[in-house]
Order: sequence, then structure tokens, then C-alpha cells
Amino acid sequence: MGILEVKDVNKRFGGLQALGNVNLSIQENICHAIIGPNGAGKSTLLNCLVGKLIPDTGSVMFDGQSVLGRTPFEINQMGISRVFQTPEIFGDLTVMENMMIPLFARRDGSFKLHAYESVESEKELREQAEEMLREVNMADKRNMHSAAMSRGDKRRLEMAMCLVQKPKLLLLDEPTAGMARADTNNTIDLLKQIKDERDITIAIIEHDMHVVFSLADRITVLAQGTPLVEDTPEKIKGHPKVREAYLGE
Ligand code: ADP
Ligand code: MG
Repeated sequence: MGILEVKDVNKRFGGLQALGNVNLSIQENICHAIIGPNGAGKSTLLNCLVGKLIPDTGSVMFDGQSVLGRTPFEINQMGISRVFQTPEIFGDLTVMENMMIPLFARRDGSFKLHAYESVESEKELREQAEEMLREVNMADKRNMHSAAMSRGDKRRLEMAMCLVQKPKLLLLDEPTAGMARADTNNTIDLLKQIKDERDITIAIIEHDMHVVFSLADRITVLAQGTPLVEDTPEKIKGHPKVREAYLGE
């Protein structure tokens, strides 16, 4: 049994079958990449895992519990954090203020500081945020307005906002899209470090094969809404069906 078990998931948008009988098992404490051409249904699948979309049929089990019928917030509280395809940070807030949001939201979603007074003081939460910012090398940017940051830094902040929640499963939708090479390499290093140091499962959707082959222990290739093959990176590299469907050969 994997930490995440997707069984016979189907999702239609009108006449378009975005996902067709998706079966996927993600094992605990590994990095599992999902690759495939544009429009293959990768983001749709991720949305079905976090409650943003509801599959038409099938089941999604996380850590032995169904995620279906739960709100995105409830699923987040079960231990799933997600980095979206487009950065979702608050540009008007500073880096530190952004970091405090997931920490405030963690327990009851009220976003009210006083709700924590008896549990954890704001100071303790700030220390957790500081520590996380140091881990992602952004401590010196704590007072910067988030809107003014580079795309790479926005992504890094978003990842830090997810990681500070100490998720069991981190879902990343094209975390390096639009990044300069140096930022991409920093992201690879950060994810490698997190993988080594924490009990965390990472599921990553990624276009950049350098990123995929640097991080993934398993790879699923999705094509036209259905998993085509799943294997180790070595086997995937040489797979003729993958070359045909994904690399367009
Ligand atoms: P990927 O992330 O692999 O590029 P998506 O999951 O975004 O693919 O999209 C899969 C297919 O579903 C595409 O054909 C896309 O146009 C379609 N699609 C995605 N979201 C919606 C939506 N909300 N409404 C209608 N069609 C959608
Ligand atoms: Mg997508």
C-alpha cells in the first residue's frame, strides 16, 4: 500500500475525458514524478488529490483515509501540501507575513492569532518561520515585499510556505516552470535536501527532464488522461512508448 492510492479515477470536462481510469500508487518517502505532454491531465489529477476538483468516479486514499468529500483545507490538515502551477503568494505582504499564513491556518483555519495563545505563542510560530526561511536561504529577504521578488524566489517562498506545515506529502506542479537555470538548480538542491532530511513523500509534475532525472525514484508517464507506463528513471529513459508519446519521436 502506498501513502497515496488513486483507483479508477475518471474526470470529464463536458465532452472531454481529461482523466480516464487513472490508477496510481505513490510509495511513502520517495519522489514520484508524473510526466507527460501538455494537456495530458497532470494538473487535473493533482487537483483531484487536493479537493480542488472532484473526480466523477473512483477513489483517492491518503494514509488510509479517503480524501473525497473533504475540503482542500481538510485535506491540507491531513498532511498534504501543494505548490500550484502559478505562484499563489500574497504580493502585498512581506516574505515573513506570507510565511505566517500557513502557520496560523494550521490548527483551526481561523487565521486569528489569539486562537494560538494557549497553544503556541506568535513568537514560537515566528521562530518556525525564521528557521524555514534559513533552510531555503531566504532569511535575508524576510522583510521584502513578495511582489518585488524574482520568479525563482516566489517559488522558493511558496515551497517554504508548504514545508513549514511539515506535510507528509508535498505535491509540486511544475515547480521550475519559467525559472532561470540557476534557480532551477537551486530548487533541485533544495528538494534533494528535504528528501534526505525529512520523512516526506514528494509527487512532482515536471517538464524539465533534468529536474525529473535528478530527483525521481519512480516515474509515471501520463498520456491523454491515462497512465502509459510507470517505472524507474533508468527504464523510463529507454522506453519506446515514452519516446513516442512524450518526446514526440
Ligand atoms: P496538463 O496539466 O497535463 O497540461 P491539464 O490537466 O491542465 O493538463 O488538462 C487536461 C485537459 O483538460 C486539457 O485538454 C485541458 O484543456 C482540459 N481542462 C483542464 N481543466 C479544465 C477545465 N476546468 N475545464 C475544461 N477543460 C479543462
Ligand atoms: Mg498542468
